[in-house]
Amino acid sequence: MSQQNVDLILTGKYLLTLDAEENIIEHGGVAIAGHRIVETGPSREILEKYSGSETINEEHGLIMPGLVNTHTHAAMSCFRGFADDLPLMQWLQEYIFPVEARLTSEIVYHSTLLSLCEMIKSGTTSFCDMYLFAADVARATELSCMRAWIGEVLYDFPSPNYGELENGFTYTEDLFRQYSDNDLISVTVDPHAVYTCSPDLLKRLGQMAADKNALYVIHLSENQDEVDACKDRYGCTPVMHLENLGLLNERVVADHCVVITDDEIKLLADRGVKVAHCQESNMKLASGTAPVVKMLDAGITVGIGTDGSASNNDVDMFGEMNTVAKIHKVVRMDPTAMGAAQTLRAATSGGAKVLGADREIGSLEKGKKADLIVLDLNQPHLTPIYNPVSHLVYAARGSDVIHSVINGQMVMRDRHLTTLDEPAILDQMSRISEDIKKMRLA
Ligand SMILES: [Zn+2]
Repeated sequence: MSQQNVDLILTGKYLLTLDAEENIIEHGGVAIAGHRIVETGPSREILEKYSGSETINEEHGLIMPGLVNTHTHAAMSCFRGFADDLPLMQWLQEYIFPVEARLTSEIVYHSTLLSLCEMIKSGTTSFCDMYLFAADVARATELSCMRAWIGEVLYDFPSPNYGELENGFTYTEDLFRQYSDNDLISVTVDPHAVYTCSPDLLKRLGQMAADKNALYVIHLSENQDEVDACKDRYGCTPVMHLENLGLLNERVVADHCVVITDDEIKLLADRGVKVAHCQESNMKLASGTAPVVKMLDAGITVGIGTDGSASNNDVDMFGEMNTVAKIHKVVRMDPTAMGAAQTLRAATSGGAKVLGADREIGSLEKGKKADLIVLDLNQPHLTPIYNPVSHLVYAARGSDVIHSVINGQMVMRDRHLTTLDEPAILDQMSRISEDIKKMRLA
């Protein structure tokens, strides 16, 4: 039987498909042609059937879908360690907003590049980003060849990027035009939150998301202060505020949802709203813990997000999974809450579903886009192996990822980034951090 040529074959000790049956293939492999997975199966069969332009056999490797970070502000890597241990509103108003008011497109571009390096090196292949200067976030992302959903954040006050609000609409329209048929980048509509956006702005953006069939990404019910302020101003909670404006639907990605009632969970489930759970950020800002177990029980699709590096302070989704799997056990005093398999699903197929991309990514299956990572299991902290899924959530670190493939392209090989110049990016960031220190004092 003649072999079929493919571009890339990867084989390892385990192949986690994370498909509907959660099949784990021992000594498994994957054949990739172009952007897509041609087949997964036992390595022996894959190697018999296919010949790869490149073939990588990792005796101790674990192959799995790339992680999906459902909420981040990639460029906030420039604020890593800049202001810690402060309440949310003080943190935003005294530190983040004053410096953000002086941000430039070049700072955002280079800071995004830094996060892209970090994300790829810790196993993330897709992310959903809300920030200023989104065109520069997208420009950096294109260079990295990562998959992303990117939106320009809009709010009532003038933006350091586009100035008056009206220009924000034009800016977002331009983004949609520029990326209308990009294979890796999708544009989203991003009202910042109910406390920074008027009802009119929230509704106009809701219409825009409907017209463009785009995701509507918003910080929602992040903490008790937000809920109290919303009650004072509008006489209802943030979730009910959006409901009253007719804005809860299946396009909404609600970031955080920490302070919500059981009735609101049912409402979000009924409306098909998706949730990005950002536990480490919620812990660092002492916002609380989102009732994720209740959300999942109610049928809400939940993904995991790191939020920006200013409130985390990293974008390592392995660290995030570890935290998520443990915190809900403590909060509920139930060691069976958020098991390893459930947590891993939220970080892969769940995240893909949050972004409306589960038909293309989130699992390793024939015909899906080839977004996958390989971890080296031959390490003290990953030995012995009784259950690889347990290791991924409770013992692995982002630095265990050795290869990363996005859309069929190897973006990291043996921990070396192939699309980004890591040393130059780190160098540039040290210079930018000096400028940021001066901005805070200005
Ligand atoms: Zn956020």
